[in-house]
Amino acid sequence: MTATHSTRMLILGSGPAGLSAAIYGARAGMAPIVVQGIQPGGQLTTTTDVENYPGFRDVIQGPWLMEEMQAQAEHVGAQMMWDHIVEVDLSQRPFRLIGDGGTVYTGDVLVIATGAQAKWLGLPSEEHLKGKGVSACATCDGFFYRGKKVAVIGGGNTAVEEALYMTNHSHDVTLIHRRDSLRAEKILQERLFAHPNIKILWNSAVDKFVAGGEPEGLVGIDVRNTVTGEVSRVDVEGGFVAIGHSPATELFKGHLELDGDGYIAVETGSTRTSVPGVFACGDVMDKVYRQAVTAAGTGCMAALDAERFLAEADFEATNRADVAA
Ligand SMILES: Cc1cc2nc3c(=O)[nH]c(=O)nc-3n(C[C@H](O)[C@H](O)[C@H](O)COP(=O)(O)OP(=O)(O)OC[C@H]3O[C@@H](n4cnc5c(N)ncnc54)[C@H](O)[C@@H]3O)c2cc1C
Repeated sequence: MTATHSTRMLILGSGPAGLSAAIYGARAGMAPIVVQGIQPGGQLTTTTDVENYPGFRDVIQGPWLMEEMQAQAEHVGAQMMWDHIVEVDLSQRPFRLIGDGGTVYTGDVLVIATGAQAKWLGLPSEEHLKGKGVSACATCDGFFYRGKKVAVIGGGNTAVEEALYMTNHSHDVTLIHRRDSLRAEKILQERLFAHPNIKILWNSAVDKFVAGGEPEGLVGIDVRNTVTGEVSRVDVEGGFVAIGHSPATELFKGHLELDGDGYIAVETGSTRTSVPGVFACGDVMDKVYRQAVTAAGTGCMAALDAERFLAEADFEATNRADVAA
C-alpha cells in the first residue's frame, strides 16, 4: 500500500523559498505540506558564515538560520515530509507528486522551490577548501575577502559580474579563464577590460587550489596554461568558481514552460507559471539575484499568489454550484 498525503498547498523544496512560502501559507490556513528533498534547508546548509540576511547584527551560521526557518514554519502549522520527488503530474488539479519510495503527495496548488546548484570544477582540492577560501558566490562571501587578493574562475556573464563585484572589496582581482576569449556579453567585457584592478589569465585552467596557513585556508591557485602546459601559481586568499548554475528543473521538463537556460518561466512580477495553480519561487526561477533573502521574498509572493488563486477557484466553484441549484 502506498501512502497518500493531501493538502491545499503542496510545497516542493525546503530552502528559504519553500520555508517562507510555508510560513505564509500556514498563516493563511492552507495547511502546507513541505516535501524537503535530500537537502533539508537547502543550499545555505552547505555554508558557514552568513552576514547579509536581514535581522541579525552578528554573523550567523547558514545551517542554524535554516533550522530556525523550519522551526518557525512548523510552529505556525506547516508539516515537513522527508522525501525526494521523482515524478510529477500537473495535468489536472489536485497536482500529484510521487516520492522515490512511491509515496503520493497531492495539492490543490503547488509551489515549486527546488533551487539551483552552483557548478563546481570537481577538483578534490576545491572540495577540501570550500568555505575556507573557495566559494561559488561572490555576492555572498566577497565581503569576507576585503583587502585581499582574489581570483574568479570562468568566462561567462556570471564570472565577469563576479570579478567586477569583487573590485568593491579587493584591489587585486584575477580572472582565470580556460580560453582566449570570453563568452560574457560585450558590454560586461568592456567594463572588465577597462577596470584597472582586474587582470585576466587567458588559456588557463585550475590545476589545484592550494591550502596553507593556520587556520588552514586558500593561499594560492595552481594554474595550467592550456596551450603550453606550464603550471604557475597565483597567490590569492579567495577563489570564486563562477562557471554557472543548474536549476533543479529536470522533473518539470515537458510539464511546465522553462526558459532557455532551464529555469522555470514565470509571469513578470509574479510567481505564476505556465500551469494555473502552480507557482515557482527562489533560485529555480531566478537566475539574476540568487540570494537567501530574494528566495524568501519570492517564497512569500508564491504563497500570496497561491492563496489568491485558491480563493478565486473556491469562489467560482461556489458560484457554479449556486447557478446549477
Ligand atoms: C556555499 C553557499 C553560500 C551561500 N551564502 C549565501 C549568503 O551568505 N547569503 C545569501 O543570501 N545567500 C547565500 N547563498 C545563496 C542561497 O543559499 C540561495 O540563494 C538560496 O538557498 C536559494 O533558496 P531556494 O529556497 O530557492 O533553494 P535551495 O536553498 O537551493 O533549496 C532547494 C530545496 O529543494 C529541494 N529539492 C530539490 N529537488 C527536489 C526534489 N526532486 N524533491 C524534493 N525536494 C527537492 C532541496 O532538497 C532543497 O531543500 C549561498 C549559496 C551557497 C551554495
